[in-house]
Amino acid sequence: MEYDVLVIGAGPGGYVSAIRCAQLGLNTALVEKDPTLGGTCLNVGCIPSKALLDSSEHYYNATHAFAEHGIDVEAPKINWPQMMARKKQVVDTTCSGIDFLMNKNKVTVLKGLGSFVDAHTVKVSGAEEQTVKAKHLIVATGSTPIELPFAKFDGERIISSTEALSLPEVPKRLIVIGGGVIGLELGSVYKRLGAEVTVVEFADSILATMDGSIGKEMQRVLRKMGMNFHLGTKVEGVSRTGDVVTVTATDKKGNTVTVEGDYCLVAVGRKANTAGLNYEAAGLTADERGRLNVNDHLQTSQPHIYAIGDVVRGAMLAHKAEEEGVVVAEQIAGQKPHIDYNLIPGIVYTWPEAASVGKTEEELKASGRGYKVGNFPMRALGRSRASGDTDGFVKILADAGTDEVLGAHIVGARAADLIMELAVAMEYRASAEDVARICHGHPTYTEAIKEAALDATAKRAIHM
Ligand code: FAD
Ligand code: NAD
Repeated sequence: MEYDVLVIGAGPGGYVSAIRCAQLGLNTALVEKDPTLGGTCLNVGCIPSKALLDSSEHYYNATHAFAEHGIDVEAPKINWPQMMARKKQVVDTTCSGIDFLMNKNKVTVLKGLGSFVDAHTVKVSGAEEQTVKAKHLIVATGSTPIELPFAKFDGERIISSTEALSLPEVPKRLIVIGGGVIGLELGSVYKRLGAEVTVVEFADSILATMDGSIGKEMQRVLRKMGMNFHLGTKVEGVSRTGDVVTVTATDKKGNTVTVEGDYCLVAVGRKANTAGLNYEAAGLTADERGRLNVNDHLQTSQPHIYAIGDVVRGAMLAHKAEEEGVVVAEQIAGQKPHIDYNLIPGIVYTWPEAASVGKTEEELKASGRGYKVGNFPMRALGRSRASGDTDGFVKILADAGTDEVLGAHIVGARAADLIMELAVAMEYRASAEDVARICHGHPTYTEAIKEAALDATAKRAIHM
């Protein structure tokens, strides 16, 4: 059988790409090795982590916020099996939704490991083995957790995010190696549920790749919640004796730091996944980090073979993978689409949430471009006081000369949703004054965006 397009990997990159190909009239097949569609994101990533973040937030509010709101409840108890069952149900429903979409769009799903035979042929090894040919191929095989050489995952106590989403109990003392997105999101889940959580991070700040103001504010808030941090501290050893895991590390001054816990989550990044793909047989190459090499059009060294999502360079984000999936489908259909990588938002689903789009202040400083900064604290908003979510800020960076918005960074309630107003503004190359002159509903968190834009454009915020 020869298809117009064969997509390998059914994560958000692959399945979205397959749908877009089908919409464009291309005869499309999707190969997936795992039993369910949806990839990391739906099975062991975005969706289960957000389900647990939401459940743990309800528990935290019941134990920490209800009384202040005048709601007295008997001490709430965690029903862990139910919390896990709900998470599973959310995942199952979401994954089966992808089966529905494949049927609806008449995408052929081939279950099994896909490996290249040559540049147009892929062997699919599942319950049965078959060989399929395609005019165009899209590799969307995603990523897997990085394992530290001295902290091999044992699946029980020294774990990756995958096991951390399905623990048999709430840890008493959780050690998190890596103060990046996974460490803080999953660390928050267990902190809210009562674990003692200690984050050991090599960099001097948590969320080190985001605007510096975000790491500072998030650390202040999470510390207030009781999370412990060892920053500027490199983990060098992890050992397990029975149910106790011991992490040894060295801080910048050369002091040894030792932390004990009953579980240790290693969240030090993810690596491109090409296991079993046999990409060399198709003439493809990878870089020093194992990511498939692609040009600006996401074409590999074989122009008819594309690669997208976590398996190629760039942010490891579901929405980045999806955009790339759409773009390659449209290219195959002869269109000329474009992705503005500067406008891909980065979001951390802690509470408060953190979200960014465009340039950080550190990047603008390094580039030498003149810029202005507008800030507005959430605590000055009526909406924030009403809900009790007074932590955080909106920070807007604008060009010193033209006032064009160059970057936006938010910590606060619903920052994940708020950031999109600034992404739209930047897409249309709005100035800070354009944003400031939009009438924002009252009382909403979005008023902080208007105020920060007023501050950026002419230091004329109203409520500060
Ligand atoms: P993947 O989702 O990894 O999918 C790749 C698929 O390919 C898998 O199903 C795999 O089984 C399959 N595959 C691999 N090799 C083969 C082969 N040879 N043959 C057949 N099939 C194969 N991103 C966000 O944007 N927002 C979030 O909130 C978020 N939360 C996350 C939380 C966690 C705990 C983790 C781990 C990640 C999170 N991410 C989040 C990142 C997000 O999951 C990834 O960026 C995204 O899944 C990448 O999509 P992809 O399609 O490139 O790859
Ligand atoms: P990350 O790159 O965000 O953070 C890893 C952290 O580990 C870094 O800060 C790094 O300095 C630190 N580190 C590395 N080696 C260390 C050592 N030996 N000792 C101490 N610290 C060390 O990676 P992650 O949190 O594992 O997430 C992986 C990917 O998944 C990210 O690229 C992220 O984009 C994606 N993800 C996204 C979301 C989201 O969008 N909300 C959620 C989860 C994951």
